[in-house]
Amino acid sequence: MSGRTRVRACPQRTCVGCRKRSDKPDLLRVVLSGGRCVPDLRGTLPGRGAYLHPTSACLDQAVRRRAFNRAFRGPGPFDVAELRQQVEQIEQAEP
Ligand SMILES: [Zn+2]
Repeated sequence: MSGRTRVRACPQRTCVGCRKRSDKPDLLRVVLSGGRCVPDLRGTLPGRGAYLHPTSACLDQAVRRRAFNRAFRGPGPFDVAELRQQVEQIEQAEP
């Protein structure tokens, strides 16, 4: 028997850094606020969101390939200092 579609409980999003898909809760939502990329920890900030694994490796990749310019449809460069701080905090908090 085929043709059965698997229904996923979790919506999937693509990481703008490594371009891999993950369950939405595993990714950090990033929004653009006044030219800065800010982490949307509660998922409540308005505007276009980009999704990123909360790792500096993915953040570096996203910055290098200007993924945020594409995600936010702006020329950039966008300030990721605050986002990087947040990502590093999350990295340190996880074993
Ligand atoms: Zn990633």
